[in-house]
Amino acid sequence: MKDDSLLAHAGRHPFKNKGVVNPPVYHASTILFPTLDSFHGRDPKVKVTYGRKGTPTSHALEDAVCALEGGAGTVTASSGLGAVTTAIQACTKAGDHVLITDSVYAPTRLYMDKMLARFGVTVEYYEPTIGADIEKYIKPETAMIFMEAPGSWTFEMQDVPAIVSVAKKHEILTIIDNTWSAGYFFKPLSLGVDISVQAATKYIVGHSDAMMGVITCNEATLPRVREAAWLLGMCAGPDDLYLAQRGLRSMGTRLRQHHENGVKLANWLKNRPEVTRVMHPALPDDPGHEIWKRDFTGACGLFGFVMNEVPEKALAAMLEGLHFFGMGYSWGGFESLLIPVNPNSVRTAAKWDGEGQTMRMHVGLEDVEDLILDLEAGFERLKQAL
Ligand SMILES: *Cc1c(COP(=O)(O)O)cnc(C)c1O
Repeated sequence: MKDDSLLAHAGRHPFKNKGVVNPPVYHASTILFPTLDSFHGRDPKVKVTYGRKGTPTSHALEDAVCALEGGAGTVTASSGLGAVTTAIQACTKAGDHVLITDSVYAPTRLYMDKMLARFGVTVEYYEPTIGADIEKYIKPETAMIFMEAPGSWTFEMQDVPAIVSVAKKHEILTIIDNTWSAGYFFKPLSLGVDISVQAATKYIVGHSDAMMGVITCNEATLPRVREAAWLLGMCAGPDDLYLAQRGLRSMGTRLRQHHENGVKLANWLKNRPEVTRVMHPALPDDPGHEIWKRDFTGACGLFGFVMNEVPEKALAAMLEGLHFFGMGYSWGGFESLLIPVNPNSVRTAAKWDGEGQTMRMHVGLEDVEDLILDLEAGFERLKQAL
């Protein structure tokens, strides 16, 4: 089945529920067992045992995401960060050394430095474009490599197959944060990555109205991730699970439009005098373009650019007057967003060399002509405020 067909059908069983197209929302903590045998876990037909352990509502979303990512099983978490931390805890123990991309989502980094380090795990960051040279960082106690491509804020691509082949040689587990591709444009498990995590909050939910994380595992890592999620008390609320599975149904169509709009705006920004650099791997002159073209089938609406250094009041004049671009965290919804970011505040392996003001743009589903008019007026306000 092709991905778009799968997005429309996976995880749904209408005739298990009176022909209703969408899976029902089960609100549950207690679930009753019909017999003592099933209570003692001896009836394989009884698959739903306690609210936190999963209901038909969570199973519907997990089955659909699992089919999309091509895994052995998917586990939901209460947020994207919850998915990241659950996967990491499932793969590490005291005394381990782990390697993390320097361009990782900033809260993932904080979790590594503030929590994982406290439990006796040594955390080391690598340059995102390192590729097969990651081998120089491998120690006997290296247990896990955590990738994210393209990088948060700076959008460097990673040579995932090259890193995976080093990891396999040394029997090291690999996890990737696959939020940017939404599991639609990139299939890390097919390249040998063990675990793919996503903030479903972004494109799966797709409407900026729920928090959710998904962890998709291969056969070898699924039991330990399921156990970690259970022991950590990870679960998601039924209404949010429902919203996520509903968002998934239209995700392919949305993503193609995000791709088209994003590339148009990235190209438009490249020709602006205020902009010195655009970071978007789908642009042919982007340093990560070759890897992106080899491994990905499309791009979402999130990318970065660097502007000439401007005083804060000029930036405020630009951003505060925008009609369509909001200033806010998260992304992946139908609406456009634009925020300033400071990559060097979270870099340790190699300094980010973007001179000036780095910006992160999420291009939503609005008409690109309207977005361009909005930005043109914004740049004019910026100029006036200089
Ligand atoms: C947003 C985000 C997360 C965290 O997701 P939440 O649902 O906000 O916890 C993780 N990774 C990446 C790349 C993200 O952009």
